[in-house]
Amino acid sequence: MRVVGQNDKKRVWGVGWASGEAGETRGAGRPRGALSRVRIGLIVLTLAALAPGCGQGGDSVRPAGGQPPLNAPPARALDSYATKLRAAHAARVAAAKRWGLKRVPLTAPPAPKKKPHITTRDGFEVDGHRRLGLPPVFTTVPTKKKIVFLTIDDGAEKDPKFLRMMSDLRIPYTAFLSDYVVNDDYGYFKRMQDRGVTLNNHTLNHPYLPALSYTAQKREICGMQKVIEERYGTRPVLFRPPFGNYDKNTLRAAKRCGIEYVPLWNEEVFVDHWEYREWDRELHPGDIVLTHFRGTDDWDGTMRDMIRRFLNKVTAEGYAVARLEDYL
Ligand SMILES: [Zn+2]
Repeated sequence: MRVVGQNDKKRVWGVGWASGEAGETRGAGRPRGALSRVRIGLIVLTLAALAPGCGQGGDSVRPAGGQPPLNAPPARALDSYATKLRAAHAARVAAAKRWGLKRVPLTAPPAPKKKPHITTRDGFEVDGHRRLGLPPVFTTVPTKKKIVFLTIDDGAEKDPKFLRMMSDLRIPYTAFLSDYVVNDDYGYFKRMQDRGVTLNNHTLNHPYLPALSYTAQKREICGMQKVIEERYGTRPVLFRPPFGNYDKNTLRAAKRCGIEYVPLWNEEVFVDHWEYREWDRELHPGDIVLTHFRGTDDWDGTMRDMIRRFLNKVTAEGYAVARLEDYL
């Protein structure tokens, strides 16, 4: 995905240490280097117990089974890998505890090398959608991985502890901002951006767009593009229409303003409940989850309480939270 001026995202959400579970290193061959089989076995058992993102239920410590690998890397590399993994996992356990989570969130797999082809969800097309090359409207990213995406809208609540919580837990999310609620403190969202979050377009004034003319819609969308570009140095390629309501003029205007994707959502999480678009009332791989920058003015709890509800459910169901921009 092209985002002008975007910071290096790998630095912020880096998950490089999450790959390479012990199970993949089993096989033929003899150990090289000075380590005894026993010592390698011990280290590998440790690695297996510590490796996050194994697709298992987010427990903090999990004993490993299986045999030690025979084609293990040289001793020093293995030692330092083990040390790094151990430190990273300990940090994740501590962070989960600090923020009151029931389990340690699962680590998302690395960003895909080949991005999925995003198309408009059936029934969400407008007349001439494809012929006019209008941006796709979708609620789920096509993937088989057990991941969901977190998107947060509007911007009224500006909780500094929420920023710390998300960085501490290393949970990626994407923001859709509406100027009328962010304009009393642009700095809050600058700090969010500095932490690796992409700031996207949710109009200037949050109107019901289909009631407006093409020109008025374009003013709402291009106007917000300009605000984000001037304040944050990036020009969004993601746009979410307020309330999820749009018509052909919305998508035509969005395209003219430089928008390439119109992600909606398949579930919405509140501080005290979830809402679902699908009849099965379940999470699915690639689902986009919506929530809002809201606090105790609107909710019976804080954004941190809402995030706890969100993470406790997705982790318990074996899902990791991935970065939407990595898939677009
Ligand atoms: Zn909104």
